[in-house]
Amino acid sequence: MRQIAIYGKGGIGKSTIVQNIAAALASRYSRKAMLVGCDPKSDSTRMLLGGMSQTTVLDTMREYEEDEIELDHILQEGFAGIRCVESGGPEPGVGCAGRGIIAAINMLEELGAYTSDLDYVFYDVLGDVVCGGFAMPIREGKAREIYLVVSGELMALYAANNICKGIVRYAESGGVRVGGIICNSRNVENERELVERFAEELGTKLVYFVPRDPIVQVAEIHRQTVMEYAPESAQAGEYAALAEAVEQNTDLVIPKPMSQDRLEELMLTYGPKLG
Ligand code: ADP
Ligand code: MG
Repeated sequence: MRQIAIYGKGGIGKSTIVQNIAAALASRYSRKAMLVGCDPKSDSTRMLLGGMSQTTVLDTMREYEEDEIELDHILQEGFAGIRCVESGGPEPGVGCAGRGIIAAINMLEELGAYTSDLDYVFYDVLGDVVCGGFAMPIREGKAREIYLVVSGELMALYAANNICKGIVRYAESGGVRVGGIICNSRNVENERELVERFAEELGTKLVYFVPRDPIVQVAEIHRQTVMEYAPESAQAGEYAALAEAVEQNTDLVIPKPMSQDRLEELMLTYGPKLG
């Protein structure tokens, strides 16, 4: 069982990517996968389930006594048999968002969700805040393999670099490693080279460059992944190739985060320019 966490700035495309990777692995390669949403937005599994029909782990815990909770309450099967879980978030303005993640992972363990027939468990984790809760999937031997989703925009690279600082903290004790960078293109000038350089500087590589395509949002409106909505489309081919790149990747490294100055230098050298 490979346990993989996807981190990146909010809105960068993590949930889209992780759901399409899982959908590609399940529908084209017959892999068994579970996807655990670790974002208080709770929309990590929406396109696999055909809508926001999932009761989150935190909501379930509010509704039931702990010993009454069963796996069916928190786990639903979606497209191609992918098992879907949402950790959920605190009520707005109260409590810590990381708590849901900790509760969800503990609950999944107690209820025996990590069955041996699973090929993959994916964690879709918001990476703007690097509080202890958000590090949960990479602590205590859960996900050992991390992919960082970025674009060629400074804030996306800034967030990814920050996440690497968090990863280094657990790399020695917990064995967590970076599998690489996934670029979700925003059509920034010279984006591929910038992200390649960024990856190289971190001691890793660009695993895949996902083009920007309006079909992604059309599929999203229909509450489906591109893999389900338009399996013959060019973009579905991109996600399938990304899934294959992840499946075949064995390069796992401890990242070398860079200073803010160095990151800005990279942006100046390879980033977009006027005229
Ligand atoms: P995150 O999970 O990182 O917050 P999402 O996966 O929800 O981000 O994506 C944010 C928005 O960007 C969504 O509306 C999604 O449809 C859109 N999007 C993501 N990837 C692409 C792409 N390759 N092309 C076009 N739109 C995209
Ligand atoms: Mg998301």
